[in-house]
Amino acid sequence: MAGRLEGKVAVITGGASGIGRATAELYADEGANIVIADLQDGSDSVAAVRERGREATYVSTDTSDEAACEAMAEAAVEAFGAVDILVAAAGIGHAGATPDVAADPSSVLLVNQPVSSWQRVLDVNLNGVMLSDRAVARRMIEAGNGGAIINIASIMAKVPQVGVGPYCVSKAGVWMVTKVLAMELAPYDIRVNAIGPGFIDTPMTAGLNVSETGQWAMAITPMRRMGVPEEVATTALFLASDDASFYTGALLHPHGGVFTD
Ligand code: NAP
Repeated sequence: MAGRLEGKVAVITGGASGIGRATAELYADEGANIVIADLQDGSDSVAAVRERGREATYVSTDTSDEAACEAMAEAAVEAFGAVDILVAAAGIGHAGATPDVAADPSSVLLVNQPVSSWQRVLDVNLNGVMLSDRAVARRMIEAGNGGAIINIASIMAKVPQVGVGPYCVSKAGVWMVTKVLAMELAPYDIRVNAIGPGFIDTPMTAGLNVSETGQWAMAITPMRRMGVPEEVATTALFLASDDASFYTGALLHPHGGVFTD
């Protein structure tokens, strides 16, 4: 039986790790060829896609850099002739080393954080998504075959949390970028949707389950567990596939029941 993404080409930023990697593997299972775009080496993800009988290539990319995003989109077209799907999953939780909240709880408050931390998180999580989206959208418009763009936001687009202000603001921004682009790109048959995961077990959340923040996370998650990256990848598959042909501007929440409305 043909896969749900048979013959499609997907660019996945953040595809070397966590949610991006799980999405690359699931998309390959469903018949897509994949471009892994990440700061980190993506050779393991490329190998995982190839094991599934699909083609993959890695493009070293800093998504906060406009020229790098344009080069990423161009490399994808050069490698595969076109791009049908973008998953913008590259992101960071905070700038630099993990803040030592226990030693100085007030250091992570917005009133005390260095402006450089605020700027880096917004550069990667918000500007990086917008720059990736538009670089790929330009190629989709040129090709004239429509497309699907999926931005990874977070429950924190809607749920504020003390100490991660820049992250919350960046994800709220991703949600609005998604809605604006959904309107602007609808005439080109390009659907733009977002995913707002709850707490997912990836390298980004390593150590969360043993921390105070982790206890809070489980307290606001009725299912009382973290999700796994594959549970976000299945949402990304739905949004990329024809099953979601009338979805645009939506934010779907694989979050174990966290109240986000
Ligand atoms: P992850 O395993 O750390 O994967 C993120 C990947 O993005 C890493 O390979 C990371 O490289 C890369 N990256 C960081 N900055 C980049 C940049 N400027 N350009 C290109 N690549 C960059 O984390 P994840 O949990 O899968 O996160 C994926 C997305 O889901 C993120 O947008 C995150 O905010 C979002 N999300 C995660 C959760 C969760 O609980 N895990 C919940 C909601 C939303 P480095 O390791 O070198 O930084």
